[in-house]
Order: sequence, then C-alpha cells, then structure tokens
Amino acid sequence: DRLKTGLGKTRKSLAGRLEQAFADKNVLDRQNMEEIEEALITADVGMDTTMKLIGRIEANAAQISGPEQLRTFLKQEMRKVFENVAQPAPVAETPHVVMVVGVNGVGKTTTIGKLAFQYRCQGAGVLIGAADTFRAAAVEQLTIWAQRADAAIVAHRENTDPAAVAFDTVEAGISRSIDRVIIDTAGRLHTKVNLMEQLKKIKRSIGKKLPGAPHEVLLVLDATTGQNALAQAKMFHEGIGVTGLILTKLDGTARGGIVVGICDAMKLPIHYIGVGEAMEDLQPFDHEAFIDALF
Ligand code: GDP
Repeated sequence: DRLKTGLGKTRKSLAGRLEQAFADKNVLDRQNMEEIEEALITADVGMDTTMKLIGRIEANAAQISGPEQLRTFLKQEMRKVFENVAQPAPVAETPHVVMVVGVNGVGKTTTIGKLAFQYRCQGAGVLIGAADTFRAAAVEQLTIWAQRADAAIVAHRENTDPAAVAFDTVEAGISRSIDRVIIDTAGRLHTKVNLMEQLKKIKRSIGKKLPGAPHEVLLVLDATTGQNALAQAKMFHEGIGVTGLILTKLDGTARGGIVVGICDAMKLPIHYIGVGEAMEDLQPFDHEAFIDALF
C-alpha cells in the first residue's frame, strides 16, 4: 500500500541495519547494541528516545536473541510512545475550525489542499481562509487547491491584516453553516517574534468570532529536516500552543523515525502524515499501521 511504499526508504535502512546487527550471532552484546543504537539514530528517532529504547532493550536482553525478537520488542516499545499521547479531539462543534501553522516550504499549502479534499470526501462542507496574506503566490496556490478539492475560500487583497481574514472566514463559516473551516497562516521564519505575535493575533481573532475556536492548531513539519523539525515543534508549541502535528515528505527520507522521536519529545498527537505528493498521500495517522510499515 501507499504507506509501505512511502516509508520504503526508512524501512530499507532501518530493517537492514537491525538485521545486520545480528549477522553473525544470536545474542545481544556491546557491539550489536551499538549497531542498534546507530540504526535508530540514523533513522532520526532522536538521541533521547533512542537512549530510552536502548535502555529498555538492555533491561530485557534475556528475551531478545535475534532480529525477529528485537523487531517485536522495539515495535511494542514504540507503540507505548504513541499510546502515551492524547488522541485528537472528536469533531463536536460546527464549524470545526482548524488553524494550520508551519514554516514556509514544509508543505503547508499542499497539506491544506489535501485536508480540504479529505473533509469533502467525508461529505463535509469546507471553507479555507487564506490568512497568509504576504505571499501572493501562496494565496494563488491555495485557490487552485480549493478549486481542486471543491472547497470555498476567503481571500482578501495582498497585505490585508491576516487576523481580519481569519475573522471573516470564521464569520462566513458560521453564516453559511460550513462544517469545517481551515485557516492558512504565514510561515516566514526570519521574523520569528513577529511571526508568533501574528499567529497569536490570528488565534485570538478566531476565538473572538467563535468562542472555543480554533478547535485545533495543527503544525506542519517537514520530516526530511530531522531534528530541525523538532526545534520548530518546540518553538511553535511554546509560542502559540499546538494541539497536533502533521509530518510531510516521509516518502523522501530514510529518516522516518522522526515521527516516533517527535511524538515522544512533544507528547503531541500526530494527526496526519504525508507519504507523497498526490491527494491521497496525506494519510490519517494510524500508529499501528505506521509501526508496521516502519521496519
Ligand atoms: P508551503 O511553503 O509550506 O506552503 O509548501 P508547499 O505546500 O508549497 O509544498 C512544498 C513542496 O513540498 C511541494 O512541491 C509539495 O508538492 C511538496 N510536498 C508536500 N507534502 C509532500 C509529501 O508528503 N511528500 C512529498 N514528496 N512532497 C510533498
């Protein structure tokens, strides 16, 4: 399936290395423990989570005497990481407002298009707010995605106040009885403080129109940027409070372990993962299926 294909690079590398660690023996010793550690680090599971997993393997070494047992044990430990995190809140109110944040280039515009498409496929009415008003190209791209997904869009003139666009979008969502409102936001990182201030203002303005909204603040991260993605997650979470993560471009990297590491570090649910550029390549995150496809 698409998930397995998308994670192919990571699986080839990680499974290969874990297998290799037991090439000429069936016990755990210092040498293959180091190889296992390196396999996890190379897959970008991250130092903290890797050390935690290595500690667990060491503590349970007696039951691990080959690649198959190691695989089973590691999968069980990774499952715990994902189960230790709150699950996405159910959609209760209409409109359900999702604010999407992330640094430029991570795949935010594309992801919003794909999200809109999925919601439409579920039969929901969708309205997109183009609140990244500084990038004319972003608004154009978003408009094309909205048409493709059969979603409505609110887009104002270039350089209008993003918070006003967000406010108007939610207002339109209410008056037109739209099920799902998705608000795009700017992602110019070189003005970090300004960006966070702008995002806070957008968030407040959404809440002013609809108390309790936004119901989700989803952060889009590019999985190929590895530990940089983790740094971004920390920054956005501290800055505005994130409720869930979307990791894109997992198909382009052998470092898919980032999904485990970032979930463990942030204790935030992964809502979707991107495993390709097509509409159906944005997949609702299912940790069982993910662990299964990972190695
Ligand atoms: P933005 O600047 O964050 O809005 O980024 P865009 O949405 O314009 O996406 C940047 C590039 O990443 C585009 O070429 C997308 O097709 C590509 N992209 C987004 N998600 C994925 C994914 O899951 N896999 C792959 N291979 N490419 C992706």
